[in-house]
Amino acid sequence: MDDADDDDSDEAEEPGASDAESESANAADAPAGPGINYTRDLSDAKLQELWLKDLEALGSISVGFADEGRLINGVHMGEDPAWIRQRPELAWGTKESVDALAAAFRAVHAQFPNSAPARLSHIGNKDGGYLRPHKSHQSGRDADIGFFYKGDTMPGGRNRERMFDAQRNWALLRTLLVNADIQVVLVDRGIQKILRNYALAQGEDLTWVDRLFRAGKASLFQHARRHKDHFHVRFFSPRSQELGRRIQPLLAQRPEQNLVVMKVQKGMTLGHIARRYNTTVAAIQRVNHMGKKTFLHLSQRLLIPLRGPCTKCPLPPVVVVPPRCLPPEAQQKAEGSSASPRLRVEAVAVSQGLAQPTDRTASRVLASH
Ligand SMILES: [Zn+2]
Repeated sequence: MDDADDDDSDEAEEPGASDAESESANAADAPAGPGINYTRDLSDAKLQELWLKDLEALGSISVGFADEGRLINGVHMGEDPAWIRQRPELAWGTKESVDALAAAFRAVHAQFPNSAPARLSHIGNKDGGYLRPHKSHQSGRDADIGFFYKGDTMPGGRNRERMFDAQRNWALLRTLLVNADIQVVLVDRGIQKILRNYALAQGEDLTWVDRLFRAGKASLFQHARRHKDHFHVRFFSPRSQELGRRIQPLLAQRPEQNLVVMKVQKGMTLGHIARRYNTTVAAIQRVNHMGKKTFLHLSQRLLIPLRGPCTKCPLPPVVVVPPRCLPPEAQQKAEGSSASPRLRVEAVAVSQGLAQPTDRTASRVLASH
């Protein structure tokens, strides 16, 4: 299985390397404000009470960014005939991500009952944070999914595009796009071309397809190097992400949760790190079970316990999930049912090519950097 090799470049440490995976870099451009959109059922007082007395009751919490964050109360992707987990210990994500993946895998399995199961490679660690060799996969919202290949073979190298099973792969992606809040799908542009051609040959709406593949930075599909054998899907997790923002000021009230997960980089020493985060070498050694050792590996995953409120913890912008980018018939259904009038008007204007999807564009730009 060569997913792991391909993922190595996710580190993208060469200067000037394309950085499609990073979410945090452009965060300053995002809208600011006190907005609470998805956790209104929890007053600040109730949140504080559960945080201290019944943390599990809060459900999954996505802290920080996909590429600079972690996960509290992660949900484990269980076993199922519709999928295989290549690394069960790395199959932890937000509830939203895990539910969406499970539903989509089951839908494809129902549609192609003789198909091999979908292959889930990584979501993330139980408590998120840096996961070698990825740049993201830190906050429970990223999943790597191996392609379906014709005849369920495992082709290598150049044969991958030829053996790519557009029918099943498209069925999976379409299900995810229609039923889940997808922020971005990272995959090689050669594969995107195959998918786009297949979708159009199946009679999918051109305007919709072009919003997926040909809307520049606003496209749901973005090219990323070395994503030639898997889809990297990033989910919005509205409730989990909003909780992640709201609990930031409360972190110091639970010392065992008051930590940062970092990746050791060239030249770093325990002393530097302790000073940077205003903690002590001994505290870092203790949490990481290092004994008295001071040696750090390059790219080591290190927990940094904090002593007070974190002044260097990344705080993402207010969570605003844009309207889904839907094919026309699903769009009509959605308009008939829910959605606020404003969003509905905007969605119609977009589907008629009258307007740019403003919310989505902002979020996508944020997402793809
Ligand atoms: Zn990935």
